[in-house]
Amino acid sequence: MVALPPERRDTAPLPPTPLRRADARPPAGPPRRQPAAGVVLGAILDHGPVARSTVARLTGLSPAAVSGHSAQFLARGLVRESPETAGPRGLGRPHIPLEIDTSRHLVAGAHIAVAHSTLALMDLRGRLAAVERRPHTGTDPQQVLAGLAARLPRLVAAHAQGRTVLGLGVATGQWVDPDAGVIVDHPRLGWRDVAAREVLAAATGLPVHVDSHSRALARAEQLLGAVATRKSAVLLFVGAVVDAAFATSGGVHRGPRSGAGSVAHLPVGPGAPEAEPCTCGTPGCLQSEVSEPALVRRAVQRGLDVPDFRALLDLALAGEPRAVDLFRRRALLVGRAVALLLDMFDPEVVVVVEPGAGRLPECLGVLRSEVAARSWVCDDPERAVVPSSFTGSVLPVAGAAVALGALYADPLGPWPALPAVC
Ligand SMILES: [Zn+2]
Repeated sequence: MVALPPERRDTAPLPPTPLRRADARPPAGPPRRQPAAGVVLGAILDHGPVARSTVARLTGLSPAAVSGHSAQFLARGLVRESPETAGPRGLGRPHIPLEIDTSRHLVAGAHIAVAHSTLALMDLRGRLAAVERRPHTGTDPQQVLAGLAARLPRLVAAHAQGRTVLGLGVATGQWVDPDAGVIVDHPRLGWRDVAAREVLAAATGLPVHVDSHSRALARAEQLLGAVATRKSAVLLFVGAVVDAAFATSGGVHRGPRSGAGSVAHLPVGPGAPEAEPCTCGTPGCLQSEVSEPALVRRAVQRGLDVPDFRALLDLALAGEPRAVDLFRRRALLVGRAVALLLDMFDPEVVVVVEPGAGRLPECLGVLRSEVAARSWVCDDPERAVVPSSFTGSVLPVAGAAVALGALYADPLGPWPALPAVC
C-alpha cells in the first residue's frame, strides 16, 4: 500500500503500486570482476592493429599473459593477425600486430521500446551490420519476445554474410536486472518480472544477456564512443521513458538489485496546473514533462498535426518554429536534470541521449546554458555535457551493446559458438 499525504487521499486516484527493492529477487552469484582476457581484447579493439608487446605495456599485464590470451583469441576467431602490417617471413609471430576479426562473428541486439522494437546485428568492432525496427501490435511480453525470436533468423539470413551470431543482447528502459536476466518493472509497457533471458534463450538457442538501455549505452560509449567516458560518466536517456546510468572505469553501477538510474520522477517541471500528470501521481516529474508522448501531446495542443514523435522531430529538423520551441523547452528541463546529476556524481562527462540535443545545435546550447546556470560543480558545460556518440542509431546500438559488452567483459567465457578454451 502506498502512503499518500493526507491532502491527496480523498481527491487523487491511487497511483500504481511502485515496486520496492525488497520485492525484487536477491542477486544471484558472486560479485562480477573483469577477467584479464577482457582487458586484453579491449586494448586490441582500442589500438589494433597492435603488437602483443604494446598490449602488455598498455594493460600492465605480463607479455606471457598477453601472448596466452592472444593465442586463445586467434583460435576462437575473435582477433586476426593484421595482413597489412605483417613483416617478411621469419621475423617471428609476436611482432605481427593483432586486430579484431570482424569477418567471422557478429552479435545480435534487441531493443524493446514502448511502441516498437528494434533488432540489430553488430560486428565485433561495434559497426552495425543490419537494423530492423517494427511497431508493436500489442504489449503482451510473451508475444513481443516471441516476435523478436521469430524475426531474428530472417535478419541473420539476409545480412550475416556467413558470420556466426555469438549471442543476443536485450535492452529496454526502466528497471532491468542483468544478473537474473529479468525485466523487473517497466510501468510504461506494463511489464513486471518478465524473464526475458530465459524465454529468448529457449526460443533462439543463443546465449542471451539483458540490461537496461541506459547502462548498455554507457557501456557502448566506454567501448566504442567518447573516450572521456572511460574514467566516469553519467548517461541520461530521454525517450518514451527516461532513465540514467553511472559508469566508472570499474564498470557500470547497478546497485544491489540493479535499480540504479531510476530518475524518471526527478522533480523538474513547473507546478500545477501547467505540469503534465505523471504515472506516479505527482505532476512535474522529469519523465512526464519530457517524454516522447508528452511532447507529442503538447504539439497537438499547439495545433501541429503530428501522429508520432518521429514526425514531430522531422518538423523540428525542418525548422518548424512551434516544433523547435517544444524541443528547446525539453532541452531546458533536461538541462535541469543534468545539472542535478553533475552535482551528485561529478562525472567526467554527462552523455545526453536525446535527439533534439543530438541533432539541433541550438537545443544542445539551451541545455548547456541551463547546466551552467544551475550546476554548482560544473564550470565547463561545453566539455562536460555531450550528445550520444550514437545519435540516430541509439536503439539498435543499445541492444547489441548488451551482447558486445558481455563478450568484451569475458571473451573466453562460455560462448557456445566459439571453440572451447582450456
Ligand atoms: Zn512521476
